[in-house]
Amino acid sequence: MILNHDVVIVGAGAAGLYAAYWASTSADVAVVSKLFPTRSHTGAAQGGIGAALGNEEEDHPLWHWYDTVKGGDYLGDQDAQRILTFDAPQTIYELERMGVPFSRTKEGKIAQRPFGGHTRNFGERPVRRACYAAARTGHAILHTLYEQCVARNVNFYSEFQVLDVLLTEDKKKVLGVIAYDLLSGETYTIHAKVVVFATGGAGRNYAITSNCQANTGDALGICLRAGLPLEDLEFVQFHPTGLAGLGILVTEGARGEGGYLTNSNGERFMERYAPTVKDLAPRDLVSQCMYKEVLEGRGIQKTGRICAEDWVLLHLEHIPKAELIKKLEEIVDFATTYLGIKPWEAPIPVMPTAHYYMGGIPTDNDGRVRRSHADGDVVEGLYAAGECACVSVHGANRLGTNSLLDLVVFGRRVGLHVAKNVDGVALGKLPGKADARVAAQIERLKASKGTEKHGELRRELSEVMMTHVAVIRTQEGMEQARAKVLELRQRYQQVAIDDKGAVFNTDLIEAIECGFLIDYSLAIVEGALARVESRGAHERQKAGADGKLVKLARDDENWLKHTFATLRADGSVQLDYRRPYLCQEHPEDGWEPEVLEKMKPKERKY
Ligand SMILES: Cc1cc2nc3c(=O)[nH]c(=O)nc-3n(C[C@H](O)[C@H](O)[C@H](O)COP(=O)(O)OP(=O)(O)OC[C@H]3O[C@@H](n4cnc5c(N)ncnc54)[C@H](O)[C@@H]3O)c2cc1C
Repeated sequence: MILNHDVVIVGAGAAGLYAAYWASTSADVAVVSKLFPTRSHTGAAQGGIGAALGNEEEDHPLWHWYDTVKGGDYLGDQDAQRILTFDAPQTIYELERMGVPFSRTKEGKIAQRPFGGHTRNFGERPVRRACYAAARTGHAILHTLYEQCVARNVNFYSEFQVLDVLLTEDKKKVLGVIAYDLLSGETYTIHAKVVVFATGGAGRNYAITSNCQANTGDALGICLRAGLPLEDLEFVQFHPTGLAGLGILVTEGARGEGGYLTNSNGERFMERYAPTVKDLAPRDLVSQCMYKEVLEGRGIQKTGRICAEDWVLLHLEHIPKAELIKKLEEIVDFATTYLGIKPWEAPIPVMPTAHYYMGGIPTDNDGRVRRSHADGDVVEGLYAAGECACVSVHGANRLGTNSLLDLVVFGRRVGLHVAKNVDGVALGKLPGKADARVAAQIERLKASKGTEKHGELRRELSEVMMTHVAVIRTQEGMEQARAKVLELRQRYQQVAIDDKGAVFNTDLIEAIECGFLIDYSLAIVEGALARVESRGAHERQKAGADGKLVKLARDDENWLKHTFATLRADGSVQLDYRRPYLCQEHPEDGWEPEVLEKMKPKERKY
């Protein structure tokens, strides 16, 4: 069956909804989502959304920009990072006017709390920059945007899962998408001038993750198979405070409100690693320090092993119970429900949990998808926004609160760009049997007599990624991971499913998702293996002369560049590179001397 819309947006998180809101001012917009919109992972975001409003103490977008550049270990594109941070205040006020119920100060202004890596005056001390709605910030934003889209008559196709993108043969133009209706099992071709991918995170390929079940990176897999590149996928953020062994997230807002970490000696170890900002150092650093503490035998169980049985402690007992419940209700709830711990009485066992992809589908500053690493080479009509996209504003490590900000700032920019340009885009011609590839895939899975189960393949994949391609990486470990992922790709050909039916066939859908998980994991491993340096979330270690593992240094001379990974027809991965946009290399843009000096790559100290 064929459906027609000007614009089809894949994903109903904050990025997709904001794009839909603005695109619908001049186009007929459909939002296709595998989940009911308000179940999107944006609704799980707890801690806050960053903006230099300068509310309770002086703050400035320039300092936010600087923190974002430094936090990303200088890999981010500085022009995009400037847009993110300087557009932040007006976007927050726009959200407020739409109806987002932000928490308030006594004076009635939007309340703000400190968050990791956000500082005043170029690193002087932590600043209150995270706007929040208790610990339900994403929930509040998601529901407000959904209401606004409904009011604008945006068309919603809920529980429709996109499984393929249609491009012209030269990949220069998008034609639409193929979606599978979970309820009926029917396949739809959605013919459109514009397609926006806003499919969110992809953390389900790690055994311990804060991500929801739906975060299987479908669009990453779809783009790879369509021959499009993915950018900087090796940079996977591990959030320091997942509930130990479970990965369920304790927001950084807990440390923003005064929480701190200790090891088995009762020492506040972050004071040693980051004397100025301590527990509010950026996530890459805190996660790496936690691993180090455990590996050197100062985990609470003193095993010296990174495993689900060791951890460090997050203390909130010094915060009065009433305040904890008011400001961090969800955290109190999680600790009590999952670990039986009352955080006002006892510390919470925590370890890093796979959380966020800095990389994704490469785009320019208006969200147009890049066809290759060459400047200006974009696919007409194809956009990406939100976590699945890589603009790149987060570089090698994202600061907390900058993702929600990325969704709204760049979701909005995509929506506005589409609204302005959609009339000038010609509707491409659909090929005959547009859905042939998807139909064949479904047919093959249903007919397969193979002996492999997708659940088992997922388990093996997520364990090998967790063991070898997580917070600390070595050549040998990553080579083992590569061999395993390649083996899983082979075995995937033998996957069979039990449910052959049409209605809500989650067996089928999970099998298809498993294929996406395996494909983009390969791009992560290849990008990480090639990158012989440590930068941001990619800590690479090598055995020194005494056989002990040591961290490789950042290598700007050879590695200050974005990775572009493309899947070749034979299943191997091709890697290309692109230099990030650094202010100092673009005098034509007239940057001020003071700005140039601040944004120059230098050693990160906190
Ligand atoms: C527990 C948790 C807490 C967080 N807290 C914060 C925070 O406090 N501050 C912050 O800045 N960031 C936070 N983050 C990160 C941030 O929430 C996410 O990066 C962000 O919400 C992603 O939004 P999105 O709009 O890109 O996608 P999502 O909100 O993840 O939505 C993805 C959408 O895509 C749809 N979709 C996916 N695949 C398909 C497909 N194949 N076909 C059709 N539809 C599809 C889904 O149905 C869904 O609607 C947190 C993340 C987690 C996991």
